[in-house]
Amino acid sequence: MKDIGFHRETVTGRYLNPFDGFEPREMTIEERYDETTGVASRILPYRVRPAQKPDTGVYLEKSPESICPFCPELFDKMTPRFTPDIIEGGKFTRGSAFLFPNAFPYDATNTVAIFSHRHFMGLDELTPDAMHDGFAVCRDYFYRMAELQQGYHYGSINWNYMPPAGGGLIHPHLQTIMGKEPTSFMRRLLASARNYASASGGRNLWEDLLDREQEAGERFIASTGVVSWLAAFSPKGMAGEVDFYFREKTSFFDLTQANVEELLEGLSRIFLHLYVNHFMSFNLSLYAPLMPEKNFWVQGKIVPRFEINPLGTSDINYFEKLHDEIICPIVPEQLCKELQGYFQT
Ligand SMILES: [Zn+2]
Repeated sequence: MKDIGFHRETVTGRYLNPFDGFEPREMTIEERYDETTGVASRILPYRVRPAQKPDTGVYLEKSPESICPFCPELFDKMTPRFTPDIIEGGKFTRGSAFLFPNAFPYDATNTVAIFSHRHFMGLDELTPDAMHDGFAVCRDYFYRMAELQQGYHYGSINWNYMPPAGGGLIHPHLQTIMGKEPTSFMRRLLASARNYASASGGRNLWEDLLDREQEAGERFIASTGVVSWLAAFSPKGMAGEVDFYFREKTSFFDLTQANVEELLEGLSRIFLHLYVNHFMSFNLSLYAPLMPEKNFWVQGKIVPRFEINPLGTSDINYFEKLHDEIICPIVPEQLCKELQGYFQT
């Protein structure tokens, strides 16, 4: 089997410790690089995590239902509509969910989906049922866009949950994007998959990655059927990263309703872990080709986000923003062990 391309190297920092009579102290930092994703990170041996339950009340006070465009009072007046050629009535609806164009689009096809008119849902309330309609309405929209044949080949479902993750409104909402070209990161994943196949006589990168990770048993959280869950070797966030892969699903349209439900069941377990550990926010993306890409498997990532108190300091600093390396004081192998407990029921 061809090498996956995980690299690690350690460096040791030394100083005289002011909290221990200025005795010498050594700190080992592990530099990691994942060729597949291009993500470089520094895994730190000391653990930093939110010490207290976050105060979500502050956000609710600043952004009450009365001024929320996704709550019932303002919803019809303040949310954009599609033209009738895309959908009669201007919005996609499914159960309690709605999908409509983003008023501040990043792309020609950037939409917003709300799960319901419920203004706030805590991480512990993001159950599969609570998320069901929101993901279903995104799926309806993807099917409709495929029917319209506008040449979009790559799509994603994304989530900025709460302001520390870039959420502009606390009302839970997803965003979808479609493009004729993939986003920069998805392009990287696709290129890695193609390069791996051509260098290994046609082998599938994701299949080999999951096989290896399962065998190594260090970062493989669980397989829940079609979906495999991993703690990323080199995470994209300060609090680590959880990845999910749909085995042998090479296009968004390969996903069945049962596959989506399996995803939501797993997500709710991860969100519960975040809740218990005092996180309040995350970014999520599901990356999917809209036409079969034989070397690619539909997959996604969840990166927990948080503010560092007492100042509400950002969890993104110059190292990530300007050097493209992620400082991660949560060891992926430990994160995996913790999450395994949430998948054992
Ligand atoms: Zn609202």
